[in-house]
Amino acid sequence: MKQIEKLIKLIEINLKEKKKIFLFFDYDGVLVPIQNNPDRAYLPRTTKDGLIRLIKNKSFKVALVSGRTLNTLKRLTKLNNKEVIFIGSHGFELLYKGKTSFFSKQNISTINKIRPKALKVAKSVAKGFLEYKPYTFTYHIRDTKKSNLVEKLSKVMKKFLKENKLHNKLKILKGKNIVEVLPQEVSKGHAVEKIIKQFPNYSYIYFGDDVTDISALKIVKRYKGISVSLNPYLKYKTDFLIHPKNINRIIRV
Ligand SMILES: [Mg+2]
Repeated sequence: MKQIEKLIKLIEINLKEKKKIFLFFDYDGVLVPIQNNPDRAYLPRTTKDGLIRLIKNKSFKVALVSGRTLNTLKRLTKLNNKEVIFIGSHGFELLYKGKTSFFSKQNISTINKIRPKALKVAKSVAKGFLEYKPYTFTYHIRDTKKSNLVEKLSKVMKKFLKENKLHNKLKILKGKNIVEVLPQEVSKGHAVEKIIKQFPNYSYIYFGDDVTDISALKIVKRYKGISVSLNPYLKYKTDFLIHPKNINRIIRV
């Protein structure tokens, strides 16, 4: 049996046993394919309809967990249902039942202070652009001439933070053509754990495709949940590996 079939079967068994299921979805690369222009990564209609059906079903709880800001997530998904939980900015912001709150407020001003200098540093390594995000420094690399630029840029950024004595306050995240700088204490894993504590007695499943999802995949395992990767190259062993095109089969269970 293929992994996707096994996973669907497992969900069905849980439902038959009247267990409630909490589904955590990363956004880019999980619910939407990775786009060249991140501004246009809209939630596909069929995925959205499926999510709304799940949200309305009392057996499920749904959270979107993304590096994107809440505002961007709202704009791209147009999911207005108040029951859906949005975790934005890598676990910094939370939107639930129409209320926004923050998981941590430390070290945000530090990010703002370093932004202009950090941008200069980034531009000197690779062509690209800064995404407007209030709580992180997010640089999208768009440079086809050189290779290994994510590695190179993160090394240079690390040095930059060290020189400015900020390496204990800020950390670097590497993604697909993205290098981000954000407060040390912010992670998807921290945010997901806080949500899990608010919703005990669920079976948790996390779907992720990138390095930034690893902390959350680990937390879900700690709470006896299921970890699912949509990226065969992810450097973390999950319970299941599925192809991104199969995400809609999960949403339509
Ligand atoms: Mg992703």
